[in-house]
Amino acid sequence: MNASRRTGLVFFPAFDWAISPDHPEREERLLYTQDQVFEEGIMDIEGLTELKPRLASPDDVQRVHFCVPDIEHSVTESHLISAGGCLVVADALMKGEVDCGFALVRPPGHHAMKVVHGSRGFCTINVEAVMVEYLRHQYGVDRIAIVDTDCHHGDGTQDIYWHDPNTLFISLHQDGRTLYPGSGFPEEMGGPNALGTTVNVPLPPGTSAEGFLYVLERIVLPVIEEFEPELIVNSAGQDNHYSDPITNMNFSAQGYAALTERLQPHIAVLEGGYSIEGALPYVNVGIILALAGMDYSRVREPDYDPDRIKQSEMVTAAIRQTCDQILELRKSLPAKREKYVKGSQYVERTRKIFYDTDGFFEGQKETVRICQECAGLVSIDSWADSGRRILAVHVPRGGCEVCRATANRWFDNASTRRFDLVCLQDRVAGTYQVKRA
Ligand SMILES: [Zn+2]
Ligand SMILES: [Zn+2]
Repeated sequence: MNASRRTGLVFFPAFDWAISPDHPEREERLLYTQDQVFEEGIMDIEGLTELKPRLASPDDVQRVHFCVPDIEHSVTESHLISAGGCLVVADALMKGEVDCGFALVRPPGHHAMKVVHGSRGFCTINVEAVMVEYLRHQYGVDRIAIVDTDCHHGDGTQDIYWHDPNTLFISLHQDGRTLYPGSGFPEEMGGPNALGTTVNVPLPPGTSAEGFLYVLERIVLPVIEEFEPELIVNSAGQDNHYSDPITNMNFSAQGYAALTERLQPHIAVLEGGYSIEGALPYVNVGIILALAGMDYSRVREPDYDPDRIKQSEMVTAAIRQTCDQILELRKSLPAKREKYVKGSQYVERTRKIFYDTDGFFEGQKETVRICQECAGLVSIDSWADSGRRILAVHVPRGGCEVCRATANRWFDNASTRRFDLVCLQDRVAGTYQVKRA
């Protein structure tokens, strides 16, 4: 057997890390997959390579996050290896050693936002975003599309790329009115300098392969084609599976494989998926075979019954309506952009963020400069119930002189009597500066 595409795989089950021994996000998630992959002889296929993970560095993390109080206190070694596993796949791809790759790593990352006060949705640092910014820093890749197919809205990845016009973020997820984290509606389309590069497709409970593949054809592939990314990354969460214990969807291993075959991501990164024995081994094998360009038609869960998980006509109708709404909203983007440019120089938003894993709230006031020259500087005044207040100032890649000078002034003028922590992440200079109380 030969793979038609050379595929790199990283396995990192993080044996010594779990939120608690019986928490759904635990090491067994990958142990069953590892067994299945070896039992099926997948690693003997010509063209499939196992890659060894490594540690991501503090610089890799600080290109993306503002960790409160600092990386040492916020991030464990397991998180750094999970992110580092993604970096290894990125290196192999960019060096031409593989045509695509799959980082089967944990802990997951897509609920981790720009500012990190603790863990949300089992995530502490956003491993995909760490990889994406590494690809840019190390290899100069510019336009990247991230397609998040986890059952939960990828709110952390959305937050990190909300103001970045060069990252297309598309999330397909169970409707936020019925599932954590409660966000990800079609109206959420990106910040004023990046309108339209965030795309959200909420799906009703009970959506099966038919619905996912419909959205792929109708929204995901056309939007990607229009955006013309250099690379496609898939946040490959597997909790849409019909047997998943914490969600309500009807997706199957066959469905995931078909989606992967059509999307053809360069890099897939495992996200959620908590049906440890019933789904993960089959879904992962399906995705691996689809990535490698091989026949996956025999990958089936032991209890697979397509009739039992077929979506209802009501679900089909609701999905069609959501897609129509999204396409309609996209038509209004040029007018919306126009309005921002003519409006005030700065746009603010305030919000409340729940750290469900650690059990506290964070309040944020975010300010972005409307800029015609660059993606615009962003500052976040953030205070958490856990007790700390931070001012986080971000200069984007390719930031213009005015945005940089303004960011420096804000950083210099911010008082450490008011903030426990003042940070400046300058992506032009490649530096991360901190002032502490
Ligand atoms: Zn999930
Ligand atoms: Zn600017």
